[in-house]
Amino acid sequence: MKPETAIEISDRLSGQVGAETVRAVLAALESTPEYKSLVADARRKECFWTSDGDDSPWEGSCGVAWMFIDGGPEENQMAYCPQCGGKLTAQTYDEVASEDAAIDAARAE
Ligand SMILES: [Zn+2]
Repeated sequence: MKPETAIEISDRLSGQVGAETVRAVLAALESTPEYKSLVADARRKECFWTSDGDDSPWEGSCGVAWMFIDGGPEENQMAYCPQCGGKLTAQTYDEVASEDAAIDAARAE
């Protein structure tokens, strides 16, 4: 069975206990240290995306694969990974290679 989304759970519970109760329970949960810690962890997390270029699929460090109709993550205003929720950093393989070469060159000096 497909897991319910937060909105579906909220709608289902609203019919049983009233929307105000649901809102009160959600507000109580959101104020707990556990919830705040989970949100903070998600915001700290990063997902590194690489690709051959704009016409090729992108692969994220969390394992996500993504294809854009036009442009890449930056051109499509994608700031967070849709799979893991991490902050998205994207580089083409060429950009990664030239950055690695620059680091190697700096180390050789
Ligand atoms: Zn990810």
